[in-house]
Amino acid sequence: MFVLGIQKCEACKRQFTWKEIQKTIRWNYKPLVCRKCETRHQITIQSRLLFSLLIAGLLFIFSQANLPFNLRVTVIIIVFLSVVLSFPYYAAYKANR
Ligand SMILES: [Zn+2]
Repeated sequence: MFVLGIQKCEACKRQFTWKEIQKTIRWNYKPLVCRKCETRHQITIQSRLLFSLLIAGLLFIFSQANLPFNLRVTVIIIVFLSVVLSFPYYAAYKANR
């Protein structure tokens, strides 16, 4: 199921923070490790796909829009940043057991 909200640890239910999840998307999706119980979580393929599709889709829409070049560049940067910054809210992780 698709739920908006920051992931909890599947083992101990500890709430991961926005920052912890942000850190995992750099370096090609590092595993998310719970600080309390040390369970490793792997990002789901659906989340990776959603992330790429969101960026590609939004960039495509705005590259088609009839906007002056400067504005277009600004919009693309804003779109990119908002997709990256909101990533922890729609990313889903599965515990590695
Ligand atoms: Zn945990």
